[in-house]
Amino acid sequence: MLQNFIGNKFVAPVKGQYLDNYEPATGRVYGKVARSTKEDVDLAVDSALEAFKTWKRTTNKERSAILYRIADLIERHLDQYAACESRDTGKPISVARTVDIPRAVDNFRFYAGAILHEETICLHSNNGAVHWSVNQPVGVCALISPWNLPLYLLTWKIAPALAMGNTCVCKPSEFTSASASLLCHHAIEAGLPSGVLNMVLGLGGECGSPLTTDPRVPLVSFTGGTATGERIAASVAPYHKKLSLELGGKNAGIVFADCDFDKTVQGLVAASFSNAGQICLCCSRILVQESIYDRFVDAFVERTKQVMRVGDPTNPETRVGSLISREHWDKVSSYVELAQKEGGKVRCGGKRPDNLPERCAGGYFLEPTIITGLDHTCRTNTEEIFGPVVTVISFKTEEDAIEMANCVRYGLACSVWTESQRLAHRMALEIEAGLVWVNCWMVRDLNVPFGGWKHSGVGREGGRFALEFYSEQKSVTMAYTK
Ligand code: NDP
Repeated sequence: MLQNFIGNKFVAPVKGQYLDNYEPATGRVYGKVARSTKEDVDLAVDSALEAFKTWKRTTNKERSAILYRIADLIERHLDQYAACESRDTGKPISVARTVDIPRAVDNFRFYAGAILHEETICLHSNNGAVHWSVNQPVGVCALISPWNLPLYLLTWKIAPALAMGNTCVCKPSEFTSASASLLCHHAIEAGLPSGVLNMVLGLGGECGSPLTTDPRVPLVSFTGGTATGERIAASVAPYHKKLSLELGGKNAGIVFADCDFDKTVQGLVAASFSNAGQICLCCSRILVQESIYDRFVDAFVERTKQVMRVGDPTNPETRVGSLISREHWDKVSSYVELAQKEGGKVRCGGKRPDNLPERCAGGYFLEPTIITGLDHTCRTNTEEIFGPVVTVISFKTEEDAIEMANCVRYGLACSVWTESQRLAHRMALEIEAGLVWVNCWMVRDLNVPFGGWKHSGVGREGGRFALEFYSEQKSVTMAYTK
């Protein structure tokens, strides 16, 4: 039974209600999650406000030491976290062990180190005064995260928020609150003072919404769907809060005829089907130059069938696990149907695998699906699907590729595959997206600004951009003339 975490205590929700927690790989209920309401949010914000009075006065060195200890504890319990994340999300245990959990450790270590090396502006401008500036904590932060990379994305927010001296109230997705709960145990063990980190579990409409609109909360960081982001932006607008939105995507992979063919096929199979396509950065449209289009499709289908083994997430050999829920499976599958109505041809996948082990008979699995024959402007090619479904489209010229890549309302990420550096530079400048990878995908450095253009988000996090977001800058001018 997963409870709220308020003032360093695990507490039952005020109304005593709980939600069923499903294991996506089996479709069976395996636990309960607190179903919080505004009353729980009020208690959590009270606790965070009280803690802020002293946490904001701690030194960078003190906060850094605690964050390092949290990182060490997660790392020491990596197998426990990985098992918990895999069970809650349906993702392969190997992925949780090598990607999700190590990345959560990195998030804490990165910001624990970053605040030890902060510099500030101080200048003397010959006007009889000295000017200096300081970044100060904002207060109680509302941190709202989705289900696809639960601990990874939640700690991407918690680490910089706490590092800068804020306190926080987190609302993880109700589908995946288990690793967040485990983190609370280790926060206590690491010596995090009471009230600095709080969690309210439950539904977005019932506890996420009162949290984001609480007037005592001056900052909201949200990662999730574009439609939810729109609702949150509208509801917090009257309060003038600091707001960061990391939203959906419809990312293109652009393949030019001069690419390193094998490396490109390999890279795009991973880009399309990692985490069953449920990563905001996954590639969902592959644009291929017409002279190599047929060869690419054949090789891409063959490699997908060869390496993307769907199966029980607990099996270390599994590469593709289940989707998160029955509703999400229905949504993703409806796009496979839509694609066929729009004239598309399913080249592989498109259905539940028929060779799943008995334990997974009720799980939400879908085979990696490749679709060709669609126009780049149809719904399948412009709406976010967020599952193991990718389309392959042919283009003639560089200008065509740019037009096709940019024709959607999203602008999160794009990958370009070519051996020509000149072409790669031109493409990188023309693509309307916050992240462009050339001859790679998902290669990340925490110093690099992260965020989307257009309907994929507002603001940047990562590196110093997160430290700036989780603080308010103040400029002080001191006159020294008599
Ligand atoms: P949702 O937008 O449905 O939910 C995200 C979080 O917001 C959940 O915790 C949800 O709770 C909560 N929420 C829902 N309604 C409200 C509300 N009115 N006020 C406050 N909180 C609310 O997204 P998903 O969880 O389905 O995640 C998938 C989406 O996330 C995809 O669109 C994907 O592209 C995007 N994403 C973007 C990333 C980026 O960095 N740009 C990274 C990862 C994912 P509940 O679950 O109870 O509804």
